[in-house]
Amino acid sequence: MTDFSALRGQFPILDQTIHGHPLIYLDSAATAQKPEVVIDAESDFYRSINAGVHRGAHELAARSTMAFEHARASVAALVGADTREGQEEIVVTAGATAGLNLLATAFGNASLGRGGEEARRFALKPGDGIVVSQAEHHSVLLPFQELAARTGASLSWFSLTPDGRIRTDMADEVITERTKIVAIAHVANTTGAVTDIAPVVRRAHEVGAIVVLDACQSVPHLPVDFHAMGVDFAVWSAHKMYGPTGVGFLYGRRDLLEALPPASFGGSMVELAWMDKPAQYMEPPARFEAGTQPVAQVVAAGVAADWMRSVGMDEIARHERSITHELLKLADVDGIRILGPRDEDHRIGTVAFEVEGVHPHDVGQYLDSQGIAIRVGHHCAQPVHRHFGVVASNRASTGVYNTVDEAQALVDAVHGVRPFFGA
Ligand code: PMP
Repeated sequence: MTDFSALRGQFPILDQTIHGHPLIYLDSAATAQKPEVVIDAESDFYRSINAGVHRGAHELAARSTMAFEHARASVAALVGADTREGQEEIVVTAGATAGLNLLATAFGNASLGRGGEEARRFALKPGDGIVVSQAEHHSVLLPFQELAARTGASLSWFSLTPDGRIRTDMADEVITERTKIVAIAHVANTTGAVTDIAPVVRRAHEVGAIVVLDACQSVPHLPVDFHAMGVDFAVWSAHKMYGPTGVGFLYGRRDLLEALPPASFGGSMVELAWMDKPAQYMEPPARFEAGTQPVAQVVAAGVAADWMRSVGMDEIARHERSITHELLKLADVDGIRILGPRDEDHRIGTVAFEVEGVHPHDVGQYLDSQGIAIRVGHHCAQPVHRHFGVVASNRASTGVYNTVDEAQALVDAVHGVRPFFGA
C-alpha cells in the first residue's frame, strides 16, 4: 500500500502558506504539481546531458538521444502503447491542443490528396461526418469544427444526460455510415464524468471511422490502455500528469501513424529534400516531430510516467476516489449544485459546482483567501456550461497529493460562501 501522506512530501510547492493558510491545491485538472524527481530530471538534463537529439556524432548527443527515446518508451508503457524500436506509437507534441491540431491538420492534408493512396482513409469530403460531444474541451471542438469547415464535412455531436454524461448509448444513431472521425473525451474536464467509450469504438469501427480520444483528464488519474480500448489516436498533456509544461503526447496505432501525412514541416522529419520535387518524409514518429524538440521536458515527462507507474495507477485511482467521495458532499451544502454525476463510480475527482446567487469569481476569491485553490470560469468548455444553463462554474479537482481532510476543508469553506455574500 502506498503511503500517500509520505508521497505528498515529494511535492515541494505544497509546503507553503497562502494568505496565512496552508495551501490546499485543488486545481490539478488545470495543471498538476510536480514531484521532486521530475523537477530534478529537467535540471539534471541541462546540467549533464543537454545536446541535440538524433543527429550529433558526439557522446552528449548520443546520451540525449537515448534519454529522449527512453522517455518515449516510459510514456508508452504508461498507456499500453508499443515500446519497441521501429514500432513506436508515441509522438511528442507541444501538448494536447497541439496534438489535436496536428491530427486535424493531417486529416485536412489527407483531404487535399496529400500522403497518397495510404492516407485516403483519413480524407474528408462534403457530406462526410465528424462527431464530437457537447462535453468537449474547446481544444477538441474547435480543431474539428474548423476541419469540417475546410473540407465541407458536417459536424454532429453526442448530447448529454441531465447530469452531464456523454450519451454514448446513442452511438448507433449518432455515428452513421457517413461518419469518418469521432473525437471524444475519455473524461470530461468540467463534469469529471468517465465516458463509456466501448460503444463508440465498436460503432465507429463498424462504419470505418477513426476514433480520436482526448485522454487529458484520464491518463493522470486512471489506468489507461489504448490497445485494450481499441482507440485509433489519443492525445494528452504532460503537465497534467505531474510532468513539465510545453509537452504532450499523441498516441497513434502504428499502422495509422504510418499512413498519416505530416502536419508540420521542417528539419528532422525529412529523409530526402530537393529543390524541384516533393520531399520524402521519415517514418513515424520522426515524421510528426519537425524542428528541435523540447528534449529536457520530454525526459522529465518520461520520469513522471515512470513515477506514476511506480506509485501504481490502480492505487492512484483508489486514493483519489476517496477524496472524490468527500468532495461530492458539496451536493449537501445549501444552494450548491454539482455539474456532473453525483456518484463516484463513473467519474474522477474533478467536481464542478454552482453556488446559487454567487458569481464563480467571488467564490474563487473567497476560497483563495483561505488558502484553497480551485478553478473558476468556463474551463474552456462553454457548450457543457450551456447544457447546465450557466455561463461559468467553480471546479475543484484532485491530484495524488490531496487528502480527505483537504476535501473536507473545501466543503466546510463552501458552507460559508453564501452567508458571506448574503446570497
Ligand atoms: N482536453 C481536456 C479535457 C483538457 O482538460 C485540456 C486542458 N485543460 C485540454 C484538452 C487541453 O490541454 P492543453 O491546454 O494542455 O493543451
